[in-house]
Amino acid sequence: MRIEAVETYPLFWRLSEPYGDANGWKTYRACMWFRIRTSSGLTGWGECTDWLPTLVKEFENRIIPCLLGKNCLNRGELVATIRKWHPRIAAGLSMALAEIVANHAGLSVCDLWGGRRRNEVPVYASFQSYTDRPDWIDRSVRKVAQTVDESGFDLVKIKVGGKPIQEDQRHLAALTYTLRGAVKWAVDANQSYDLAAASQWNHMFREDDHWLWFEEPLPLDEIDSYRLLRSRCPVPIAGGENGSTTQRFLFWLHQGALDVIQPDTAHLGGMGDFLDTLRLARHLGVRVSPHAYDGILSRLYAILAQSCLPPWSKMDGENIEPVEWDVMENPLATLLPVQPKKGRVRVPDGPGIGVEIDPCSLRRYLWDGTGYQ
Ligand code: MG
Repeated sequence: MRIEAVETYPLFWRLSEPYGDANGWKTYRACMWFRIRTSSGLTGWGECTDWLPTLVKEFENRIIPCLLGKNCLNRGELVATIRKWHPRIAAGLSMALAEIVANHAGLSVCDLWGGRRRNEVPVYASFQSYTDRPDWIDRSVRKVAQTVDESGFDLVKIKVGGKPIQEDQRHLAALTYTLRGAVKWAVDANQSYDLAAASQWNHMFREDDHWLWFEEPLPLDEIDSYRLLRSRCPVPIAGGENGSTTQRFLFWLHQGALDVIQPDTAHLGGMGDFLDTLRLARHLGVRVSPHAYDGILSRLYAILAQSCLPPWSKMDGENIEPVEWDVMENPLATLLPVQPKKGRVRVPDGPGIGVEIDPCSLRRYLWDGTGYQ
């Protein structure tokens, strides 16, 4: 199983209108897909995210020369080597090599990961509602209501922290009133607040029981404040999307900082660490709801992994945590034939990741090599 070729597909889409969260505006969506092919004709797909000019150079100058001729069965060592240079490329490499090994065996990657326990995985609709328009709240409410109505999502995440608290709370009040009874809400502050500011949400959280979690209200290195907020806040505290090692998640959990951890397959430096982190949550009795906003293939890998995870509770219908599903403008999502229905994704059957990808279908979104901001 020697690596004979590494094909790269830098993908780019300029948004028709910027949208954003507390971290700023998005004007484009981009990711790098790559396909590894062995001398015996086996293939596996991976994805990584970063500034595309950097990724293209990295692949050309270091990654491809390093991988050519290497044995896929040494995938732990290969991923560890690449991780020293570029953890996010290592994450994608670990996906592609897992698919190749599964394809060699004629099995799903789920069979390598303990076996599938469910055929569907719940997903939550993830919105980035800020725009620079004065009527952004009205537009957001219409968009969320339309998406929930058309797609049947019953779990929704809304961003806060980029506007004054009173304005964000008017937004949430309008949303929860419009969709009362139909949706449970996660609120994501992207580490925007201090303890006093985050605590101003407690009264709103106490008014109803339709909240999923409060995500990253504070900078994640403020562990003492997280513990205090957890003791006061009536909804679970979630976080960790940028955690790059399993040890980091172990630290947060040992410190009592989080109720729900949110590892991301694209951020952890390898599927090995991702799977370890899912199991860590089960060993320590906390929930794990994978973050998956930046990529499309990496989201599928998260769904496949979540389908193998033991339930967190015995409550019928609510015993497996949802994976994030980006519902903003992002046509790259159409590149995979995996779409949610009524807030659930059917886990693909078949060897590898269970879907065939035609490289020709990627052409429309290939980055043209020009600069972008
Ligand atoms: Mg977040």
